[in-house]
Amino acid sequence: MSADLQFTVEPNTQPASDDQRATILANPGFGQYFTDHMAIATWNAEFGWHDARITAFGPLELSPATSVFHYAQTIFEGMKAYRHPDDSIHTFRPDANAARFNRSAHRLALPELPETAFLDSLTKLVELDKAWVPSGGETSLYLRPFMFGSDPFLGVRPSAQVTYCVIASPAGSYFAKGVKPVRIWLSEEYTRAAPGGTGAAKTGGNYASSLLAQAEAIEQGCDQVAFLDAVEKKWVEELGGMNLYFVLDDGSVVTPELSGTILEGVTRDSILKLVTDLGHTVTERKISIDEWRDGAASGRIREVFACGTAAVITPVASLKWNGGEVQVADGNGGPVTAAVRSALLDLQYGRTPDTHGWMSRI
Ligand code: PMP
Repeated sequence: MSADLQFTVEPNTQPASDDQRATILANPGFGQYFTDHMAIATWNAEFGWHDARITAFGPLELSPATSVFHYAQTIFEGMKAYRHPDDSIHTFRPDANAARFNRSAHRLALPELPETAFLDSLTKLVELDKAWVPSGGETSLYLRPFMFGSDPFLGVRPSAQVTYCVIASPAGSYFAKGVKPVRIWLSEEYTRAAPGGTGAAKTGGNYASSLLAQAEAIEQGCDQVAFLDAVEKKWVEELGGMNLYFVLDDGSVVTPELSGTILEGVTRDSILKLVTDLGHTVTERKISIDEWRDGAASGRIREVFACGTAAVITPVASLKWNGGEVQVADGNGGPVTAAVRSALLDLQYGRTPDTHGWMSRI
């Protein structure tokens, strides 16, 4: 059953009206409105994956004993569908998200979902809800595949029943008033992920454990929190929801190496190739927090930027910690950040040829 799992389509008999949809698309914000449909499939030990459907978006009815509520056996993905100038709709490297989803599934003792089924769910959902893909600016349809232990059983063991679901939410421009450089708070008390833990998986617990540090960042007047490694508290890992890049004064670019405790961002991986296309050398290596602090102060570090699906590429204005703050150059980003950002957006929005074969037409 699992190997050639296909989603059957059951159209919503009460979709939003054209007027309702137009009102939402005029000002979608982020993550608050959902399209008419969702994808859903079930797994159990006996039948494997089965009952795969695209159906009306709506509430799930779950027993209070459902295992995910108690033991957090859950994973998710985040990706976008983009409307191109000719009105065709494309996703960006969905195979990379499918592969990461299965790496996360493995770490959380969840069943893998065949890549073909992951892609089938996305394609059919976006095709059916294509009127919900906004146009103009940096708008998109945000896609959220997720999987969780849905067995109504309180014993601690991998759930014997699992639910896979995809929901879709129209997203407006992340920075409605133009790109805004962010101030970063360095979390020295809390860490995000330890060696052997779940840091490289996209699982709910990593985000739950980052929320207090993120709240501290906001209290400190910052936008995002940066985490260090959990052992030496010396090496820069990543932000709560984005990876980091540094541009040095000789034009070379560096990013923290994949340590097993940071999330392997699809944007991070794409930028490794795009900065090379732009003629820079790029290195994945350890970067200490002192290298960041001292380099920003001395001018050795010219630009710092954060990257991820949601905000694409965001310049980092400054790093603040308990006892000090250092600005990066003039605090407004720089030419390499701007060039990489344009290169990536031009590809995603179909304004330049897809030389890497990254876009997937719905
Ligand atoms: N790190 C973390 C912790 C994240 O949640 C994300 C967002 N998925 C990223 C990095 C960036 O990953 P991507 O480029 O795949 O969105």
